Amino acid sequence: MSALPYAARAAGLVGSVIDSSTSLLHKQTHDIVRFAMGSPAAEAVPSQILSAIAADELARPDAYDYAATEGDPPLHAALLEMLRGTGDETTADRLTVTAGGMQGLDLFCKIFVDPGDLVVVESPTYTNGSATALSYGAELLEVPVDDDGMIVDDLPKLLDGRRPKAIYTIPTFQNPSGATLSLARRHQLLELARSWGSMVIDDDPYGLLRFAGNPLPTLRELGAGDPLVFSVRTFSKIVAPGLRVGWVDADPELQQLLINAKQAMDTCTNLPAQRLLAGFLAGGHLADHLVRQRAEYRLRKEAMHAALTEHFGDIARWTDPEGGFFLWVTLENGINTEELFEIALAEGVAFIPGPAFSPSGRFSDAFRICFASTTPDRIQEGVTRLRRAADKLAPS
Ligand code: PMP
Repeated sequence: MSALPYAARAAGLVGSVIDSSTSLLHKQTHDIVRFAMGSPAAEAVPSQILSAIAADELARPDAYDYAATEGDPPLHAALLEMLRGTGDETTADRLTVTAGGMQGLDLFCKIFVDPGDLVVVESPTYTNGSATALSYGAELLEVPVDDDGMIVDDLPKLLDGRRPKAIYTIPTFQNPSGATLSLARRHQLLELARSWGSMVIDDDPYGLLRFAGNPLPTLRELGAGDPLVFSVRTFSKIVAPGLRVGWVDADPELQQLLINAKQAMDTCTNLPAQRLLAGFLAGGHLADHLVRQRAEYRLRKEAMHAALTEHFGDIARWTDPEGGFFLWVTLENGINTEELFEIALAEGVAFIPGPAFSPSGRFSDAFRICFASTTPDRIQEGVTRLRRAADKLAPS
């Protein structure tokens, strides 16, 4: 570092390998099959409907004004109705519109995390979530994940008598593993959090994208209004990430503090984007859109499984998510996936290496694949290229 008078917290601004891959991939001039970013399929973005809504909503000058910090009233109302429609009995005084899920995570940390506070994260976890906690000076404790999500049984032992300030979980179709926290573990997690007085950050961007199995109640529903549960949600995966609109569902006691924190940050969420989404929801488009997305993502997950079985059956195992965007591949032949990334990129395929999902750099034998953004044909092509890259590194 130079002689500039940095704040101590600047050392905790570790960045995101996932987000940096967007710029890296944009710079490449050769054809690349992109399994790296967690973006909805380009074909699945309802751009025609949104542009028809824009022609009307965005022709009005008041769509370019400042908005109410808690959310523009038409979107706030439409959001409440949408959630009720999915069986989520939340209330208006629990909802604050945010600039994507990331801002929900940031607001949480701003309000609850002091330097040195212990925050539990899953291992592997969503890089940007752990990076947000680090940016507020948190100390992180990684708790392993299996097919049923965070191994909650391991928590007390790993804590060794310490009480976490917060437990950060992505309970449904976890990023990056695709795992879903079982019902028994959901109950267990809430009980432990209550006994320690720890906040639970329930980060749930993918819950509405279930394409197999049976839905589980969210932590908020199970907690029946327990003030310890803080839910971070977003339109990024169900509509489009570039809109940068999400919401927080939290105890009403927190709403004024969330508004105050957001006013010290960005005043309000982008109003044209909120108007587009309000029109999309009020026009009744979301339900059909989700039906189409779920069907398409199921096909893509199956295409990914078929391609992995064909090309990686002898050297890897992988997870079987019931929804969402991601699966997690573990190589069993000693290949380091950060080294594999370089060769794979030259070969024309991109993924995110495992260590990106662990603050302590675990999982050098694993990587995350997004199956949602790529058509089945391209999935087959991408996995073929990936195997070519793996064979260059460790000829079979
Ligand atoms: N949490 C998780 C688990 C995510 O996967 C993502 C997006 N990759 C986010 C939060 C951030 O969402 P947004 O793009 O709406 O900020």
